[in-house]
Amino acid sequence: MEKIKDFFKTFLLIELLKGMALTGRYMFARKITVQFPDEKTPQSFRFRGLHAQRRYENGEERCIGCKLCEAVCPAMAIKIAVAEREDGTRRTTQYDIDLTKCIFCGFCEESCPVDAIVETRVFEYHGEKRGDLYYTKPMLLAVGDKHEAQIARDRAADSKYR
Ligand code: SF4
Ligand code: SF4
Repeated sequence: MEKIKDFFKTFLLIELLKGMALTGRYMFARKITVQFPDEKTPQSFRFRGLHAQRRYENGEERCIGCKLCEAVCPAMAIKIAVAEREDGTRRTTQYDIDLTKCIFCGFCEESCPVDAIVETRVFEYHGEKRGDLYYTKPMLLAVGDKHEAQIARDRAADSKYR
């Protein structure tokens, strides 16, 4: 019986017609392909892109060198060195992230008690050699300075869920 069914299915091109019907259905459906980079898809305020180090409004860096982010990072991508300043505060002398190791899990951001290390919406960056993706503290602070307005808006939107 199965063999007869299969014969008629093959003879009447049933599978082909099913495939064409599916194609036809999507031909008139709303298109979801975007013409990147001219068009972009919407991003969540929790988007986990390029990392940034933030400052307070007075220009003081937020990071207090507690090393929680370094401890929690599953990829061991963060390297921190800390020293006490003359005013008795504790600040990092080195804060590096190796983006070739990073898996963008967001744990560093989640663990930070002062919202210093964050992941931005920036995803259009590249490196031509391995060292280009080794982000040092000045590089991370520069990303933070450049995108602080967007970062602050995203943190505010996320704050009610934290
Ligand atoms: S996003 Fe995850 S893997 Fe990347 S530096 Fe932060 S904790 Fe490490
Ligand atoms: S970025 Fe945050 S979690 Fe990491 S060392 Fe600085 S204050 Fe601590």
